[in-house]
Amino acid sequence: MPHHPAMTVSSLPPMELLPRDLSSYRRGNTGIDYVHRFDSGRPGPHVLINALTHGNEFCGMVAACHLLDTGVRPLCGTLTVSFANVAAYESFEPERPFDSRQLVHNLNRVWSPAWLDGAEDSPELRRARELRPVVAAADHVLDIHSTSQDVPPFWVYPAFARNGAAALAIGEPAVHLVMPQGLGSGTPLIQHGAHGEPGHHGVALVVECGQHFQAATGRRAVRAALDFLAHFGLLPRPEPQPAPAAPARRYELLQTVVVQTPAFAFARPLVGFETFDAGELIATDGTLEIRAPCADCTVLMPTRQPIVGREGVYLARPIDSA
Ligand SMILES: [Zn+2]
Repeated sequence: MPHHPAMTVSSLPPMELLPRDLSSYRRGNTGIDYVHRFDSGRPGPHVLINALTHGNEFCGMVAACHLLDTGVRPLCGTLTVSFANVAAYESFEPERPFDSRQLVHNLNRVWSPAWLDGAEDSPELRRARELRPVVAAADHVLDIHSTSQDVPPFWVYPAFARNGAAALAIGEPAVHLVMPQGLGSGTPLIQHGAHGEPGHHGVALVVECGQHFQAATGRRAVRAALDFLAHFGLLPRPEPQPAPAAPARRYELLQTVVVQTPAFAFARPLVGFETFDAGELIATDGTLEIRAPCADCTVLMPTRQPIVGREGVYLARPIDSA
């Protein structure tokens, strides 16, 4: 398991959101731990709201607990609420708040038959195999995440028209990261099985709600979950929201840069959404130079702490609004 030295206290972000004891949510009604299902008894879609694909992204936990604590019941169709990587979540240590993202494998890269049917074993692979029927059974999926850096919230989804249409209709967040070629570093939960097929009817979105440990990030996750459920008719429409201040800004993912050596370093400090001219140096990785492949190259989710074999940064470019 990759491990990096604890950061000094001064380099840690303020910890407004902290883990709660989730033991009372363990026993759901599906036979799978931390999975709760509510069938309205009326026709309608099956919607999955999934939290904690990454163990230290607490905002999803806030949203899932909100739904369960307020006794949410769908007006139509079926609602499933799940907490994915509780094992990683429970490994949280305040001195190393980024380490509890995962225990062994990234639970958001293993949703292919090769991993799910393969011979390898880890806490994440065991959990993905448990959750596989849960993800497969849903028509629509909202997978709730957060970012290590304090950047505006944004959607992430494969470039299927159904996904873009739903994200635009929901409205907030107004920033979209579209993945025409997938992620490039594995199969995320939202591309499991039929969710990754062009002809599927369902919508599957990641929402990145802001910095992991900020209270506002938890509030945005609650909003995103309620808006997603209202969009599909499972909950009443929330009170009208003020019109978004700006039109949607969409980016397409060009390249996922995976860290190759311990010497990986950005050319300047990055938090995300910085732009680079074509050919401009973004990072070096040993003797390798990572340069902007196009004009207006926009970096997303630059790593705080490079770990060999994990994503270093995503390179994207702005695309015209739909
Ligand atoms: Zn995440």
